Amino acid sequence: MASAISNTVLDIDRIRAEFPILHRETQLGAPIIYLDSAATSQKPRQVIDIMSRYYEQQNANIHRGIHRLAEEATQSFEEARNKIAHFINANSSKEVIFTRNTTEAINLVAYSWGRANLQAGDMLLLTEMEHHSNLVPWQMLAAEKDLHLEFIPVTDEGLLDWTAFEHFLLREPRLVAFTHMSNVLGTINPAAEMVSLAHQAGALVLIDGAQSAPHLKVDMQTIGADFYAFSAHKMCGPTGIGVLYGREKLLASMPPFLGGGDMIRRVHLRSFTPNELPHKFEAGTPAIAEAIGLGAAVDFLESVGLEKIHQHEQLIVSYALERLEEIPGVVVYGPRPEKKGGVVSFKLDGVHPHDVAQLLDTVGIAVRAGHHCAMPLHERFHLPATTRASFYLYTMEQEIDRLVEGLYKVKEIFS
Ligand code: PMP
Repeated sequence: MASAISNTVLDIDRIRAEFPILHRETQLGAPIIYLDSAATSQKPRQVIDIMSRYYEQQNANIHRGIHRLAEEATQSFEEARNKIAHFINANSSKEVIFTRNTTEAINLVAYSWGRANLQAGDMLLLTEMEHHSNLVPWQMLAAEKDLHLEFIPVTDEGLLDWTAFEHFLLREPRLVAFTHMSNVLGTINPAAEMVSLAHQAGALVLIDGAQSAPHLKVDMQTIGADFYAFSAHKMCGPTGIGVLYGREKLLASMPPFLGGGDMIRRVHLRSFTPNELPHKFEAGTPAIAEAIGLGAAVDFLESVGLEKIHQHEQLIVSYALERLEEIPGVVVYGPRPEKKGGVVSFKLDGVHPHDVAQLLDTVGIAVRAGHHCAMPLHERFHLPATTRASFYLYTMEQEIDRLVEGLYKVKEIFS
């Protein structure tokens, strides 16, 4: 049974009933407390069911066949793309490229746009709070093309240093690439404002939306980014599929990323003509069932409402901060709740984060410990690692209470 805070915005029991795994009992005979949604979210029944139904009733390769199954599979796959275009308010489904995940989407831009458009000495502006997925592809490109990388610093509060950002823009970066929401600090960056300033400075903008697309209403027309990347598995969808949104004109001007079937219109022994968008960037047989699963995830999220999901998470994160800060020796990183999403990273004095996570696991609580693929950000805060609890639409305040009880137990063991 859910209580006051949890039911303020969402009918939490009804939502939880949709997620079979949330009813799986641990060795302790109680349902698992899943506080690791920033790593991957759980999946509602309708996503699981639609993927089974696809394999039971429609399975065929797409775009090539002229038989009935192939036509139906193609239609379901392209319908999923249309749903995603609508979900993010893209101008057209040609702007929605299916990739494997956020990481591949960013690599696609670095490889295709970056190699074709950047020259030695060009500057790329990133931030200190990036996930490795939005650092390493640019480091690889910088090494190949002799580019300059600069980084907007993170303040002690866990926000981007705005003065430094404006200062770097005066040096005319070719691209500004930043995360919409930090997977460690939870910071929600003011994306539209940053895009507008970067555009005024003549830069293109890529946004890593891995943590924002699942939790906030992201509207491509309002945000105005040139590229926006996200992963299905963090937004109630399956693994193995992600999205690169790109402005149509820009995508049309870019060379293909991977070569092979589906991304071509014609092939001769020594040459090829690429296919039109979005297929130009989708070489080989795609993750068909997964795309359809993502379509169902988007339907599910829209039926609940992204604004409500965000409001719910704000209540949960405020409550979590309040409760965690009661515990002597806990230090939480990141801004106040108004500026952050449902992610809380913290340290507990005298206990290694891996021990915290392991002990919490023994009482049926799943959290994450480590650098969360953001080593430079941890270096910035002089931390080898943190423990991270992350929330979603199915998180209840009682689960936060259990986390707090668990942390008191950990303290007892290590005292
Ligand atoms: N960026 C951010 C902010 C993330 O949190 C993650 C996932 N932890 C990624 C990128 C990478 O996502 P994926 O592993 O699905 O490519």
